[in-house]
Amino acid sequence: MKFGTKAIHAGVHPDEATGAIMTPIYQTSTYVQKGVGNHKGYEYSRTLNPTRHALEKNLAAIENGKYGACFGSGMAAIDCVIKMLNPGDEVISTNDLYGGSYRIFKTIFEKYGIKFHFVGMRDLSDVEALVNENTKLFWVETPTNPMMNILDIEGIAVIAKKANALLCVDNTFATPYLQNPLDLGADIVMHSVTKYLGGHSDVVMGALVTSNEEIAKEMYRIQNSSGAVTAPMDSFLVLRGIKTLHLRVQRHCENGEKVVRFLQEHPKIDKIYWPGLPEHPNHEVAKKQMRGFGGMISFTMKGNKIEDAHELVKKVKLFALAESLGGVESLIGHPATMTHASIPKEEREKSGVVDSLIRLSVGIEDADDLIADLEQALA
Ligand SMILES: *Cc1c(COP(=O)(O)O)cnc(C)c1O
Repeated sequence: MKFGTKAIHAGVHPDEATGAIMTPIYQTSTYVQKGVGNHKGYEYSRTLNPTRHALEKNLAAIENGKYGACFGSGMAAIDCVIKMLNPGDEVISTNDLYGGSYRIFKTIFEKYGIKFHFVGMRDLSDVEALVNENTKLFWVETPTNPMMNILDIEGIAVIAKKANALLCVDNTFATPYLQNPLDLGADIVMHSVTKYLGGHSDVVMGALVTSNEEIAKEMYRIQNSSGAVTAPMDSFLVLRGIKTLHLRVQRHCENGEKVVRFLQEHPKIDKIYWPGLPEHPNHEVAKKQMRGFGGMISFTMKGNKIEDAHELVKKVKLFALAESLGGVESLIGHPATMTHASIPKEEREKSGVVDSLIRLSVGIEDADDLIADLEQALA
């Protein structure tokens, strides 16, 4: 089955009791048993709920995996992956990653004896140099936020296999429509479902997908034991969101490209970070592992003045000033004072987060209106 068909049909079937074509919101905590142990596969909703179950099967299908699990947030999904490790284990993580991921690694799991190495992963020999017998997990995010760096998933998977360690890829920015890490050799895919999968800025949720039965057993054991599960209503909303994922991401990509073309021509714009540009340092890898380049764009302004950036985010009318991304509506953000404010100026500038850097999550409105909005704000 192709992607659009899976997005709509995988994991769901008409309700047996009523014929309802949409998966019902099974707003229930428990399930009546005919006799002890005689039930229909559902005993208690932390362990399994039919609405969540449909979504988990759908997510597994669109990531070309076998097993899916949903969590109360993207962070709870990450929490589950690290809980598969033991004290003394080591993780090699990209150094250009979501701030919350860095925070949970450093402030939650390090004190339980898990060691984290952070390294730029563009040069694979730098990754290989950190491998030792305690290496149990590689953590990759691509494209990254907000610099849109691209990492070679296949290349890192080879290193992980050789080290006998797992590879988990945070696929939030790419979405399964553009990139399928399991097909490239990853063992686990992680999503902040909050972003493109939900797609309508109305749910916070996370997910993991794997094809490995052993990993799946651990994943479900931790999901049920730690209990950071998703609500039936949220599961319903995301099932509905995913039905249009392919259409939305197609439009995000088209709009993203049009906005990039406009920015390229604008005299006040300096650098543009978007993996679809031939001058992007890892454009070739992006072309190899992604089917499109998405609607996330970062750029800097000539002169690199923080006042110019603040002025721009204040003057836009359609682009909303907000954190998060991946919804139908366009958002604008200023990483240096928003998502990356807690990182010292010197540190963030090393990775390119300079004062005038602006990040756009280009939505699925009409591109002409989005460009007109940027044009008036830049004028
Ligand atoms: C938002 C985000 C997360 C965290 O997900 P939540 O749903 O906010 O908990 C993790 N990784 C990336 C890349 C994200 O954008």
